Amino acid sequence: MGLARNALLWISENRKLRQALPKYKFIRRAVSRFMPGEELVDALRAAEQLKPQSISAVFTHLGENVTDEGEAKRDADDYIDALRQIRQRGLDTHVSVKLTHLGLDLNEKACVDNLVAIVSEAKAVGNMVWIDMEQSHYVDRTLDIYKRVRKEYPNVGLCLQAYLYRTEKDLDGLLPYSPAIRFVKGAYKEPHSVAFKRKSDVDANFFKLTTTLMQHVSAGSKLVVGTHDTKLIQAIQDKAAQIGASKKGYEFHLLYGIHVSEQLRLAREGFSVRVLISYGSFWFPWYVRRLAERPANIWFVMRKMFSS
Ligand SMILES: Cc1cc2nc3c(=O)[nH]c(=O)nc-3n(C[C@H](O)[C@H](O)[C@H](O)COP(=O)(O)OP(=O)(O)OC[C@H]3O[C@@H](n4cnc5c(N)ncnc54)[C@H](O)[C@@H]3O)c2cc1C
Repeated sequence: MGLARNALLWISENRKLRQALPKYKFIRRAVSRFMPGEELVDALRAAEQLKPQSISAVFTHLGENVTDEGEAKRDADDYIDALRQIRQRGLDTHVSVKLTHLGLDLNEKACVDNLVAIVSEAKAVGNMVWIDMEQSHYVDRTLDIYKRVRKEYPNVGLCLQAYLYRTEKDLDGLLPYSPAIRFVKGAYKEPHSVAFKRKSDVDANFFKLTTTLMQHVSAGSKLVVGTHDTKLIQAIQDKAAQIGASKKGYEFHLLYGIHVSEQLRLAREGFSVRVLISYGSFWFPWYVRRLAERPANIWFVMRKMFSS
């Protein structure tokens, strides 16, 4: 399984394969399991369908490592348009962005300008923007940008990855900002020198980080638990109940199409749940990371290959 995960993560970062493989119809058919469609309107429709189940959404317009500043600006404008359409439809839907989609690899100042444009539009329409966490070599710059923007905008949150050794210390450094943090396990190929390899170590760190932030929610921090791991979810719920945290005092975020029964259970039991819905044409690396999370998903792709 470790080998399959590593091979898939290598594919997700290979520029040639990123261009060639999405052309195959069976791969395009298989991706529909994880995203409702490539257009914003597909994501809006999916969010509307979740609403009656008391499930909110987070939209992400897929894209990363853009190589052109004009493209980064257009992508920021697309997010601004999405925020307006979310407002018009009366949806409770946040957005989540990647800094390399907004031009971090090209020009940090332009990237921050793009981010601020999105966050300030979100503030004007009473919405929230999450910053994804990418590979470990982006962590320092992402934290720095988050701290700068958070000083002025309370409606910006950040993703932290439990697989990194450094995250505990990073969380300490963020606490003075009363941060909004979405914890996830981490989706990239990282070396031993920076990341836990054993699932049990990642899970233990995830639990430790979430319970640390839980103690700061009453002081203005916001906690989001971003996982499909039902055991971990249960352990975090138990801990929250033990310290008297209310069910609405923190949120669960899960990905569209994954563990739908758990999404529904959480919402039914009165917890705040959001489903992250992706859209856009640059889905390949993101999709292969979803396969790497559960290499058994490859059988699903194979079935699509042989079905008409
Ligand atoms: C809302 C949200 C935002 C995220 N943002 C980021 C980010 O910014 N940066 C980042 O590095 N990572 C991000 N991730 C991905 C994350 O790091 C993990 O790779 C991913 O969530 C899988 O880990 P898990 O916590 O579900 O636990 P796991 O232990 O991997 O999975 C638990 C169970 O969930 C199910 N499952 C998990 N993944 C899949 C899948 N792809 N297909 C089918 N079943 C699956 C399986 O039943 C599995 O046994 C995000 C995840 C979520 C939910």
